[in-house]
Amino acid sequence: MDDLTARGAEMIKEAQKILVFTGAGLSTESGIPDFRSPGGVWERYDPSDFYFDKLISDEKAREKYWQMSTEFYMTMKDALPNRAHLSIKALEDNGKLLAIVTQNIDHLHHKAGNSPDKIIEIHGTAFSVSCLSCGKKYDRDEIEERVNSGVKAPYCDDCSGILKPETISFGQAMPEDKMAQAMMHAGECDLCVVMGSSLVVYPAASVPVHAVQDGAKLIIINRDQTPLDGQADLVIHESVSKALGQMVER
Ligand SMILES: [Zn+2]
Repeated sequence: MDDLTARGAEMIKEAQKILVFTGAGLSTESGIPDFRSPGGVWERYDPSDFYFDKLISDEKAREKYWQMSTEFYMTMKDALPNRAHLSIKALEDNGKLLAIVTQNIDHLHHKAGNSPDKIIEIHGTAFSVSCLSCGKKYDRDEIEERVNSGVKAPYCDDCSGILKPETISFGQAMPEDKMAQAMMHAGECDLCVVMGSSLVVYPAASVPVHAVQDGAKLIIINRDQTPLDGQADLVIHESVSKALGQMVER
């Protein structure tokens, strides 16, 4: 373990432009459960109920969606960044951070103090809501107040359109501009550090793949194995906050 973190620290020291790629494993230590893990929301809800097409066409599905989504949001609303998030903030302070590409919707990179223009949320954010018809944006907490007061599926004040948190649902297209930005940075970085992602969700996982193809070094820190472990220069199967905290402190 110490040899591995020493190597990681050395690679970080040598790198000039680091692309950080983060997934759910980064936030579990902030108390946000990985929704795919045992006890996660998908044990109590059926994901097939939440396909984008169904949300658009079926009011009952929307009501169920808001129930699930509210429950999930409550687990992350007051969560605080952990040592791993703060280590990534330190990389920005040291001038080494090119960008953070995150699969997380929990806003913790923002809370850690990273510049918003460095954070690319490729799966969207749970902290804002928008109208699918006119695009009007709402603060999540304002909409949650409506839900708490008994509104089962909220609608737009201006046009009565469907309101939805700005997260990417199953069957919903990825934001093209964000994916393009992420891939551009993957081509520019000299080191890509994957943290807490199992790298099984595409197209998100194509970001580190592209980084390696374009000559960047790759570090993977994840509790479990990933399909890209064989292509990485360094793999650490360990708690992200522990491993990364040690590396950056070095
Ligand atoms: Zn609207």
